[in-house]
Amino acid sequence: MSHPRLNDFRRIVVKVGSALLIDSTAGEVKAAWLSALVDDVAALHKQGKDVLIVSSGSIALGRSRLKLPRGTLKLEESQAAAAVGQIELARIWSEVLAAHGIGTGQILVTLQDTEERRRYLNARSTIGKLLEWRAVPVINENDTVATNEIRYGDNDRLAARVATMTSADLLILLSDIDGLYTAPPGANPNAR
Ligand code: GLU
Repeated sequence: MSHPRLNDFRRIVVKVGSALLIDSTAGEVKAAWLSALVDDVAALHKQGKDVLIVSSGSIALGRSRLKLPRGTLKLEESQAAAAVGQIELARIWSEVLAAHGIGTGQILVTLQDTEERRRYLNARSTIGKLLEWRAVPVINENDTVATNEIRYGDNDRLAARVATMTSADLLILLSDIDGLYTAPPGANPNAR
């Protein structure tokens, strides 16, 4: 059996994890890594493929811009940090894609936006319009209004939902975690 190649896919969702995108010591975006990734995105886009980015990093970037101490943030702190970080994150994606002549549209969704039919259809048609216009949607959870009980919390999950919602034929999860675990490996030593 031959392995599928990127060329075989038409609509591709790429999830970018915070750990890859943000250098946590410097509190900055890893510019060289991002620029290499965007070269690939631009090449796929040029071939006529639809590329959607699900990007994490709002809380991590906000935390660094606000110079918040290490440790767990309270809900309202992470929401406020996300407000600061998301605006920066959107600017960065918009700039790196614009350097390749590609337009960007920011989509922030909540869990409810993808669970309730009318809102789901609405988000889907907005994303569809961006793709039709050849803009790259950059998607994240709307962390400023998401509460602990009702949120994705994890962009792997959000990216999977975006992939089904948009009938993507490939979902790529770029992460610092080696594959699929039975539990979060950082938090659970028994994770396999
Ligand atoms: N939405 C969160 C953020 O942008 C990230 C969630 C995740 O890392 O999976 O900071």
